[in-house]
Amino acid sequence: MSEDDYDYLFKIVIIGDSSVGKSNLLSRFTNDEFNLESKKRIGVEFATKNIKIGDHVIKAQIWDTSGQERYRAITGAYYRGAFDITRPSSFQNIEHWLKELRDHSDEKISLMLVGNKVDLAESRAVSTEEAKEYATDSEMLFFETSALDATNVDAAFKTVFERIYEKIP
Ligand code: GDP
Repeated sequence: MSEDDYDYLFKIVIIGDSSVGKSNLLSRFTNDEFNLESKKRIGVEFATKNIKIGDHVIKAQIWDTSGQERYRAITGAYYRGAFDITRPSSFQNIEHWLKELRDHSDEKISLMLVGNKVDLAESRAVSTEEAKEYATDSEMLFFETSALDATNVDAAFKTVFERIYEKIP
């Protein structure tokens, strides 16, 4: 099957503070790759992966916004906000990212909050309960992941796709 043989195109945008692991969540999911060195290029990058839900092939186009606000240019997308469980400020800033998003997108979007780097359990500074409660209050799905050891990365993306799929009219 060719890469361009798909039934639906889903756009996912990963937003959140710099260094929380957005590009590694993207590379882990699409290529099963992880980089300890952050080798950031300027601007917005995306990668795609075809997945199957029910009888349909979904082309997932996932964007890493590199901390810029250029995601505004990406229309019709669904969003995931990521933070680093070892850095409380990156969790507090989710509020800012959500506001940016709600000011610049239509209200049909699906949201997921992702607490990344759970492999660093000994450095945890944002509790699962606190993050989960915040996600529930803000009507976001919630997952804790590790791009490093791949914990929950597939499951989190799959859950987003299923949520979007359910919303197809
Ligand atoms: P971004 O700026 O949000 O795109 O973050 P990056 O993906 O560039 O990651 C920033 C740094 O955190 C890099 O050094 C990564 O290797 C590291 N990193 C990303 N995800 C994880 C993770 O799940 N666990 C650990 N321990 N480090 C991670």
